[in-house]
Amino acid sequence: MISALTRFILILCVAFIAAYIALANWGSDIAIAVGILILAIPLIYSYVNLARLGKYIQTDSVENMPLPSGLWEEIFFRLQRLVRALKQSNRQIKQQYDHFIEAFQASPNGIVMLDENDQIEWCNSIAEHFFGLIFKRDVMQRINFLIRRPEFIQYLAKRNFEEPLLIERMGPDSSLSLMLQAFPFGQKRHLLLVQNVTDLQKADAMRRDFVANVSHEMRTPITVLMGFLETVQSLELEKTQRDQYFDMMMSQAQRMKCLVEDLLTLANLEANTLPAANNPVHIGTLMALLRNDAEALSQGRHAFSFDISTTADLLGDEREILSAFSNLVSNAIRYTPDVGAINVRWSINQQGQGEFSVLDTGPGIASEHLSRLTERFYRVDRSRSRDTGGTGLGLAIVKHIASRHQAQLMIESTPGKGSMFMLRFPKERISP
Ligand code: ADP
Repeated sequence: MISALTRFILILCVAFIAAYIALANWGSDIAIAVGILILAIPLIYSYVNLARLGKYIQTDSVENMPLPSGLWEEIFFRLQRLVRALKQSNRQIKQQYDHFIEAFQASPNGIVMLDENDQIEWCNSIAEHFFGLIFKRDVMQRINFLIRRPEFIQYLAKRNFEEPLLIERMGPDSSLSLMLQAFPFGQKRHLLLVQNVTDLQKADAMRRDFVANVSHEMRTPITVLMGFLETVQSLELEKTQRDQYFDMMMSQAQRMKCLVEDLLTLANLEANTLPAANNPVHIGTLMALLRNDAEALSQGRHAFSFDISTTADLLGDEREILSAFSNLVSNAIRYTPDVGAINVRWSINQQGQGEFSVLDTGPGIASEHLSRLTERFYRVDRSRSRDTGGTGLGLAIVKHIASRHQAQLMIESTPGKGSMFMLRFPKERISP
């Protein structure tokens, strides 16, 4: 390739030779004109190329520009390479930025980036949802103007971010509990991480309620038992009276035993995370057992009918299935007044699902209680449950067993008319 200086010397030589020839033939005026013309050609060429470059720069398409020849080819070629490299590196930076944004958006936690004045530089959509922010609208707004909770404003003002802050009743319908913490980064900027701890808070409250309920349930029979013991100890009682007290003590002890047994059953069910076994459970034998127990518990006070409309059996854990079925039957007996009727049925529906149902003509349950019946210790009528020896855990146990067998517990009830409790087992749990 010819260097720029060589080109320049060449052009000068050509101009000089042409001017010399013109001088020899046509005189000095023509010679000057020829010399200037030859010297002007590269200038015109350069001007044309600069004009083209200007045009391509305006349309941001320098890299597509056709290359001229000569000295400008080299310049344009290098320029194009530079522009291409710049665009490529821009694309990579943009891609990396998009990846970071995608990762932050995928986070289940809210993320807010704050500048040194606590203005929102960026936030993900979870943070928008938690705080009711709209990023496009609220960008570069001070966050304490948008989240007006005093504890949050104080937290920001203190600038001590070692401990997280819990804010309750947040979110669109004030139903969320949020744990947030600010972490410093860059130059005086902060990353605000926000975690939804609503479920944890609920679980914690449930655990506290559960402990309180168990203590309460235990305290009552223990207090009664101690009262009887003191009486028997301190008073000279006749044998019949003493026997009467012993009977009453026995029934309180029995009540505690039932409660402890139900608690253990629940704990075992909860601890067992594996799905229930797949053993064949013979429904005929199960129904016969249920009938015996039911008649013993009812002592002739109710009219029973036990129907099995299919030869299909169940696949599951026999002990658990018996526990769930007998809980439903014993509830029907305990809550249905004397001379009431109770129907226990096993059938297969049109979808091939197995249905175990218990219908009674008892007092029924008002609809507002239905969704809460399977909560531990939830009772519609506390004293009736206790009088009949209920622990308040029966339906919680049934629900656990149902879910371990992928079954659904359905409850229909009409106050004053009666109730229907049904366990619906999936096709896969039915043995032909
Ligand atoms: P409990 O030991 O108190 O019977 P359960 O968990 O078995 O506890 O039942 C929860 C509540 O549901 C009962 O206290 C009772 O109010 C109501 N209940 C359950 N079964 C029936 C039924 N067959 N008829 C009317 N109410 C019922």
